[in-house]
Amino acid sequence: MSDTALDLLHRIFGHREFRGEQAQIVAQVADGGDALVLMPTGGGKSLCYQLPALLREGCGIVVSPLIALMQDQVEALRQLGVRAAFLNSALDATEAADVERRLLAGELDLLYVAPERLLTPRFLSLLDRARIALFAIDEAHCVSQWGHDFRPEYRQLTVLHERWPQIPRIALTATADEPTRQEIAERLALEDARRFVSSFDRPNIRYRVVQKDNTLRQLRDFLHAHRGHSGIVYAFSRKRVDSIAMQLCELGIDALPYHAGMDAATRAAHQRRFLQEDGIVMVATIAFGMGIDKPDVRFVAHVDLPKSVEGYYQETGRAGRDGEPAEAWLCYGLGDTINLRQLILQSEAGEERKRLELRKLDALLGYCESTTCRRQSLLGWFGEAHAGQCGNCDSCLEPPQSWDGTVAARKALSCVYRSGQRFGAAHVIDILRGVSTERVLQFGHDQLSTWAIGSDLDERQWRSVFRQLVAQGLLEADAHGALHLTDAAGPVLRGERSLHFRAEQPKPPRRRRDRGD
Ligand code: ADP
Ligand code: ZN
Repeated sequence: MSDTALDLLHRIFGHREFRGEQAQIVAQVADGGDALVLMPTGGGKSLCYQLPALLREGCGIVVSPLIALMQDQVEALRQLGVRAAFLNSALDATEAADVERRLLAGELDLLYVAPERLLTPRFLSLLDRARIALFAIDEAHCVSQWGHDFRPEYRQLTVLHERWPQIPRIALTATADEPTRQEIAERLALEDARRFVSSFDRPNIRYRVVQKDNTLRQLRDFLHAHRGHSGIVYAFSRKRVDSIAMQLCELGIDALPYHAGMDAATRAAHQRRFLQEDGIVMVATIAFGMGIDKPDVRFVAHVDLPKSVEGYYQETGRAGRDGEPAEAWLCYGLGDTINLRQLILQSEAGEERKRLELRKLDALLGYCESTTCRRQSLLGWFGEAHAGQCGNCDSCLEPPQSWDGTVAARKALSCVYRSGQRFGAAHVIDILRGVSTERVLQFGHDQLSTWAIGSDLDERQWRSVFRQLVAQGLLEADAHGALHLTDAAGPVLRGERSLHFRAEQPKPPRRRRDRGD
């Protein structure tokens, strides 16, 4: 081996120096060791397997879940003069046969392959006859069935270790809270691999969270500050994606929809325009994004609550990969919370999974409602300590007003309890505020001791209180949105614990009733 890693870094990739822990990771794998690499999007994961593959004898086999991602990577490598190829369903039989021939002839440095392809007996026996430098498992979180990108085939990748124990393996992901890390290590038999955990901080991204009031107006105002910028707007459902994209177009914004319900050709065309043109706003479900390497995405906006902090961080991580200032903006309402809860509770998933998903949702709500530095709470979720006061999030830039909500919380919790823990926030708020709706009268709730004890706050303020009680885990909603107390409510009701809430944002002038649209 005449070349050193640094020579190749300069000569082939044209970079001056290694970034973060790249040098150590490359050394570990080039020396034949296993590695588990957790690095944020844009951190430079590809080099961590590309370089060792060039340094070692044979071809590096890269397992990658997305065809688009493979093609881009292979194209980029070829332009650098690296002998790279991919094998997936996009190739016809002749092309595939040619790639296989080059693999056996030792004419490839890197071969990207889809997991389902890799796992075929035919391909495995082909690998038996080839010289393999290493196995790289990209987007390794796909092995986690709790994650948002679960790919069942990833589970079977342990065959690599069983069949070729002496060949080094490197698994990489940008998604990794501790449970997922653990699961990746276990599922891929990488418990003994050296772990490289980079800082997940993305200092150039400014985080902002706003409460839903009139989503389209809020989004329009946000986009106004980003005129001419490329960005992504994530929405919860295909229907919402279509309708928001259409409404933005009517406002003269260059918006395109993207979701899995569209035909493949239109989807590909929209993706291409987003990548190639300036100033396109892609309105999408989470089907859009994995592996999208566009450095100058200036904003990622969420008009609905994402499902988890990891998902949120992954999605927002697509902004500002060039290191220039970028913005992550999230608009959420109580309605979102209830929708997502119902979706989880009514899903086919087992009890364990439902509980886990509910916890993830609560963690995200906790993030939204927290009064402290956003960066600190996000990084805290990934087990990374941050001193706070980042100076680049809404909490730091415009410190939120907080107020002592102990008394209000106690009223709200008692009212939920007195009315039998069978009603949603709207009804309980009516009782608290002494609004004699038909439903209130029908259930005799105007006779409760908590009737009209909350007339000091208006409906909007009460909604905020309930949202924060849910976020802080004092109240839980069932599949129908009915609220009930959790064990954590006890100390507050007994006066043993005080609570501070993020103050409501000032009322905008003309307001529709906030139903969290
Ligand atoms: P990831 O897969 O972690 O999202 P990539 O491997 O795609 O990240 O790298 C992100 C960007 O950083 C790419 O444009 C890549 O060329 C660049 N990059 C990676 N390593 C270095 C380095 N050592 N010096 C300069 N740029 C780098
Ligand atoms: Zn901050």
